[in-house]
Amino acid sequence: MALPVEEWRLCAAQRWAALEPALRKRLEAASLRDIVHLGCDLLRPEVEAVVLRRLCRRARTGKEPAAARFYREEGNRLFGRRHYAAAVRLYSQAASHEVPGSPDVSICFANRSAALFYLGFFEVSLEDIARAESHGYPARLLPKVLLRKVECLLCLGRLQDAADTLSVVENKIDVDGNVTSPTHQTLLKKVNQLKDKIRERESCPEPAREACAAVQRKSESWEENASISGASSSLSLKSDRERGRHLVASQDILPGQSLLKEEAFVSVLCPGENFPLQDSSETVWDARVTNADLYCHRCLRQLLASVPCHGCSYAKYCSQNCAEVAWEQYHRTECSLGPLLLTLGVFCHVALRTVLLAGFAEVSRLVEWSHNGGKDLHNPKARCRILGEAPDARAGTRGISGCDDYGRYQSSYQTVFSLLPHAEKHSPEHKFLCLLSVVAICKQLQEAGLEAAVLNQKSSEEGSKPNTCEQTLGELSAELKTLAEAMLRHVLQLQCNAQAITVMQESGSGDGAVVKKKPVRLATAFFPVLSLLNHSCCPNSSVSFSGTAVTVRASQSIPSGQEIFHCYGPHQCRMRAAERQQLLSQYFFECRCQACLDELESDVKSVVSTRNSFCCPSCQAPMQGEDMLCCSEEACAVSVSRESLTCRLGDLQQRINTALELLRDRKADQAIKMLLKCQMDARNFLSPEHLLMGEMEDHLAQVYATLGKWQEAARHLQRSIEIVEMHHGPSSVEIGHELFKLAQVLFNGFAVSEALSTIQRAEEILSVHCGPQSTQIQELQEMKTCLSDLPRSILQRI
Ligand SMILES: [Zn+2]
Ligand SMILES: [Zn+2]
Ligand SMILES: [Zn+2]
Ligand SMILES: [Zn+2]
Repeated sequence: MALPVEEWRLCAAQRWAALEPALRKRLEAASLRDIVHLGCDLLRPEVEAVVLRRLCRRARTGKEPAAARFYREEGNRLFGRRHYAAAVRLYSQAASHEVPGSPDVSICFANRSAALFYLGFFEVSLEDIARAESHGYPARLLPKVLLRKVECLLCLGRLQDAADTLSVVENKIDVDGNVTSPTHQTLLKKVNQLKDKIRERESCPEPAREACAAVQRKSESWEENASISGASSSLSLKSDRERGRHLVASQDILPGQSLLKEEAFVSVLCPGENFPLQDSSETVWDARVTNADLYCHRCLRQLLASVPCHGCSYAKYCSQNCAEVAWEQYHRTECSLGPLLLTLGVFCHVALRTVLLAGFAEVSRLVEWSHNGGKDLHNPKARCRILGEAPDARAGTRGISGCDDYGRYQSSYQTVFSLLPHAEKHSPEHKFLCLLSVVAICKQLQEAGLEAAVLNQKSSEEGSKPNTCEQTLGELSAELKTLAEAMLRHVLQLQCNAQAITVMQESGSGDGAVVKKKPVRLATAFFPVLSLLNHSCCPNSSVSFSGTAVTVRASQSIPSGQEIFHCYGPHQCRMRAAERQQLLSQYFFECRCQACLDELESDVKSVVSTRNSFCCPSCQAPMQGEDMLCCSEEACAVSVSRESLTCRLGDLQQRINTALELLRDRKADQAIKMLLKCQMDARNFLSPEHLLMGEMEDHLAQVYATLGKWQEAARHLQRSIEIVEMHHGPSSVEIGHELFKLAQVLFNGFAVSEALSTIQRAEEILSVHCGPQSTQIQELQEMKTCLSDLPRSILQRI
C-alpha cells in the first residue's frame, strides 16, 4: 500500500536490470538532482508508460453510471430490509458516482436523508434534504421529501420552522397536484397528520431539554515551548552525532502529561486492503467499504453522510467546507490523477501532496538551497534583527538543521525538507523505482495540462490552459524537474519518517453490546516535530490521534534530562529483539534501546519468547530448545519438532477464525462450542500465558456478550486481562482497552460496584495514553454518570 503495486515494481526492476552498467553506476552514486537529470528520460513512452497506463485502468476513480445504479439499487434493497446504516453507506457510494447537479444525484441524497431520518440523525438528514433540493430534485417528488423535512424539524423541536415548511408543502400540493391521484390523497393525509402533531406539540410544549450537561473535564495544563512549535515547555531540542536531533525532558514529567500536540503537515488517507484493483474486463461492483468510504479524504473524520468530489468517485468529504479546502489546496491537481496515485502507492501520493501544499516557490527555494550545500538559507538581515532581541537561550538550537534564524523549530515545509532522506543508504533499485514513479507523476501533470496550475498556484483558475511551449512532448521542463527532485526526496524520507495515523476501528458485525475494536492504519503523514523523537522498543511515551492531529503523552514518569522515546512499531512486548532489529533496519539504524541491549547482549530472554512458548504435550511443562524441542521435565523426556508444533498452532488459529465466522453468522452457540474445544486443544501444547490463550478468552467473552450473558462474559474477560497484563504490563494501553470492554460488560450486567471500580481503573490508564478528552474516556464517564443516577430502589434489588 505504501509502495507501488507489485507489477509496477517488477517493471521498474526489469528496466533497472537492463540499463547499461555504466549508467547504473552513475545513477548509484549520483545526487538526487543528478538522478532526476539522468533518469527523467528512462521512462519510455512506448514501454513503461504503457504498462503503467494498463495498471491504472484497474483503479477506478471515475464516475461510472453503472456503479451508481448498482449502489443505488443495493441501497434501496437494504433500506427495504431496514438496514438503514448500510443503506446510508450505499447511497453515499451511489452519489459519488453520479454527475453533480443531476436529478440522479439528488435522488441519492433524498434517499439517504430518509435512512438518516430512521437512524435518528435529524440534523444530518436536513442537510441531505437541502442537498437534494440544490441538486435539482424533481419537483413532482419534492412534497414527499419536504414532509420528511417537517418531521425532522418536529423531532428537533423547531416547531415554527416545521409549520412554515408544512405550508410550503400544502401550496405545492394545491398548485400542481392531481386531486384524484392516490399519491395526492396520501400526501394530503400525511399533511393533516403532521398538522395535528405540530398543534399537539404547541399546546403542551416539552420541557426545554437541558443543554446536555457537558461532563466537566479536567482541562489539561499545557504550556507551549517557545522554540519548538507543538512541543511542551518541559522539553528541549538537542542534537549530537550519535542520536541526531532528539527531545529531552528539561524538567521532571508526570505520567499522562502531554508532550507534543501537532497537526500533520500533510496526510494522505490509505485506501485500505479492501480497495478493489481489477481489470476492466471483469467489472464487478461490490458493496465492500474501503477507508475512502469511511473517512473524510481531508480531515480523516469518520463519515456519516459524505459529500462526494464533483470530479471523481474516490474522494469523499465530511462537509462541503472540507471538499472546497481540499480542492483549493491539492485536490484540483490530484483529482484526475487518482488511478495513477493509487497504483504508485501512498508514499508517492504523500510526496505529491507535500509539494502541492508547500507551493512551487517554496519547493524551488529549498531545492536550490540544497544544491548549494544546504548552507546560508538564513536571511542575513533577519539574523541581525534577532541578535538585538533574542536572549541567548535559543542560541543552542540555532545551528540545528531545520531550525530557523530564531532557533525555532516549527512544523513547516522547511522542517519537512530538513528530514533526512538517507539517499546513500537506500538500495539503488529502490531509488530507481521511486525515480520512475515521480517522473511518471510529472509526465502526467504535463499531459493533463496541470503543469501551469501546479507551478503557479495563485493564478490556477479553471481557465489555465495546457502548457503549449515548444517542448518536445514528454520532456520535463526545468520546473518539473525541480518538482520531481523534491518528490523523490520526500518518497525516500518517508521510509524513515512516515508516521502512520491509526484509529481504533470497530470490527465484525458491530451489533454486539460490546464493541470489538482493533487498531487500523488510516493514513500516512509527515509530522516534522514528532519526527524529532527517536525510537525505543520500550518507549516512555504514548501516541494517540484525533483526525490529523497527534498527541504524545508521557506513559511513565520521566526525570529531567532523560530523552523522550516513541516506538516506531516494533515493541518489546510484541516481538523478539532479532525480529525487531530486522524491522528497524528499514530506518537504517540498529536499535540500542535498553530492551534490545538486555536481550541481545546478555542472557535476558525476550519477554515474548518466554511467554509465547510451547508446553509439553504430555506433562505441560515448558519446552526447551530450538528446532527440536524437549520437555524441561527430565523424567518426561518427550521431544517434538518445532515445525510440528508451529503447524498445530496454525491449525488452531484457523479453527478460531472459523468460530469467529460462526459468530458473524449469528450462530453463537456453535461458536462457543468450537472455541471451548480450541481452548482444550491449546492447553495441551501452548503455555498458559500464550497470547492466543488470552485471545480465545476475549472471543468467548464477546460471544457471551452477544447473548446477554454478562457474568460469563466478564469471567472470560478477566482471564484475558490477566494474560494481556503479563505481556504488556498493568498500565499499558492494551490493558486500558481490555478494561474498557470489561467495564461495558459489567455496566450492561448491572454489576454496579464492580463496574464502577473497573471504570475507575480504565479511566486512569486510558487518560495517561489517550488523554482525558478521548472518546473512550467520555464513554466511561457517561457510564459512570448513568450508574450513579440509577434509582436506589433498583440498586437495592440487585
Ligand atoms: Zn473533513
Ligand atoms: Zn476528485
Ligand atoms: Zn530496541
Ligand atoms: Zn513433559
